[in-house]
Amino acid sequence: MAERQHTIAKSVSISGTGLHTGQVGTLTFHPALPNSGIKFRRIDVEGCPIVDARVENVVDTSRGTTIAKDNVKVYTIEHIMAALRGLNVDNVLIDIDCEESPILDGSSKIVISVLKESGIVEQDFDRKFLKINKKIVYTHPKVGCKLIVEPADNFSVDVKVDYNSQVLNVQEAHLNDISEFESEFAPCRTFVFFQELEMLLNYNLIKGGDLSNAIVFVEKQVSEDDLRRVASLFHKEMVSVHEGGILNNATLRFENEPARHKLLDLLGDMTLLGMPVIGKVTAYKPGHFANTEFVKRIVKEMNL
Ligand SMILES: [Zn+2]
Repeated sequence: MAERQHTIAKSVSISGTGLHTGQVGTLTFHPALPNSGIKFRRIDVEGCPIVDARVENVVDTSRGTTIAKDNVKVYTIEHIMAALRGLNVDNVLIDIDCEESPILDGSSKIVISVLKESGIVEQDFDRKFLKINKKIVYTHPKVGCKLIVEPADNFSVDVKVDYNSQVLNVQEAHLNDISEFESEFAPCRTFVFFQELEMLLNYNLIKGGDLSNAIVFVEKQVSEDDLRRVASLFHKEMVSVHEGGILNNATLRFENEPARHKLLDLLGDMTLLGMPVIGKVTAYKPGHFANTEFVKRIVKEMNL
């Protein structure tokens, strides 16, 4: 039997701080008509312009996935997109009153719970799927990443990450059915290496970061001075390194939480296709640039 499209039952809101811009904003999710897809509406801009969450509107992938229409941007949409895909929500209009989606706890968990609080409702139209009919490969030799989708009877994703790191091992994550997303992937938080952190903070690239919305891996021995400096940038008295090379009070929610988060990000970026894929996805070292280029390759190869 064909699956039906879904939207949410009633409008719901969520507020928080954007990771990169530090802007405090509110997202309000509204039910939307069948076949309308996922759209963001910048209600703080004159005329309330709408930006379709589609791959052709991706304008930047440097620290997250940013979409724009006529220079009106929405930053860091990937965890929101993953939550919508994970709950099989096809159609929703998202009002946002600033440039960047709130980072919340760095995962999709809170968005999932807010959407569920609204309720997910079936609509009177069949869902369209993209059934992959040939192997499609994207590689980026410089970065060493490789993303593949090939024909299969259902949707699955295998992710492998390798940061050539002593504290973050080579890790894998597997999603065998989208129904696993909510419990197995949605709670997985974003992560960063300590060595990048100071640079990011100094260049003001993570204005909304604090030590609760990212896992920080500490690769090398760091001095008390370095720790104190990073602590002060986070407005904390002091931070420390726990066993396993993780900073502060964060404890991993899953042993392979980073690989699971990369799978979450990939799922969010693949949602920019505008319909769910039926096919087997295999990703080695995915990232937002590679993910969105991969999606563009699928659009081209499948003549969408
Ligand atoms: Zn992410």
